[in-house]
Amino acid sequence: MKIIRPDEGEIFDIELDEDFLSKNRKLAEDNRKLLDKHKILAIDIMGSVGSGKTSLVTQLVKKLRNKYRIAALAGDTTTTIDAEQIKSAGADVLEINTGKECHLDANLVRKALKELALKKLDLLFIENVGNIICPADFPLGSHKRIVVLSLTEGPYVVLKHPFSFMDADVVAINKVDLSKATGIAPEEFEKQLKELKPSLKAVRTNCSTGKGIADVIKALGL
Ligand code: MG
Ligand code: ZN
Repeated sequence: MKIIRPDEGEIFDIELDEDFLSKNRKLAEDNRKLLDKHKILAIDIMGSVGSGKTSLVTQLVKKLRNKYRIAALAGDTTTTIDAEQIKSAGADVLEINTGKECHLDANLVRKALKELALKKLDLLFIENVGNIICPADFPLGSHKRIVVLSLTEGPYVVLKHPFSFMDADVVAINKVDLSKATGIAPEEFEKQLKELKPSLKAVRTNCSTGKGIADVIKALGL
């Protein structure tokens, strides 16, 4: 089949401008240094709209709040719905509204870090905007990445978006209770992920009930 692709430099998208991306990388390095200075482990969470990112962070906060001092950044286009939910689990939460932007960038995270009491933190979760395409181009300065992939997203997410998974440390294969309804077996994703990146840790979860959360914590080394 004939495939149409943009030539080098042909994409009309300021986000892909190399200068722009290198500025973001530099800011991400600064964020990392600041986090390291305060011995804060930062974990970002990436996933499609409705995959279960907020539910995952909420469950992680509930299970880890007695062990670590936790804050979360909730990236969202316009609302504070996710931030409220995570806050109710017992973490300090800052909302980052991106407006029309479909991803967080290192500058927004830098601004949020200025608002947090870094001396009183051990762990920071950064929930990205629901999107698994462009967040992959924008490192934020975090130490680890979780991608949430739910069975309701169809069988081809890993094959279609390999770059989104290449930088991940842990993948939460979520909504495993819907395996029958969706006709997708978690094994399929596990196999594809293993082929893509052997060191990637895939964990089966149901973030609504808390199933698999202990395994996610273990996979993160927390
Ligand atoms: Mg969310
Ligand atoms: Zn974007």
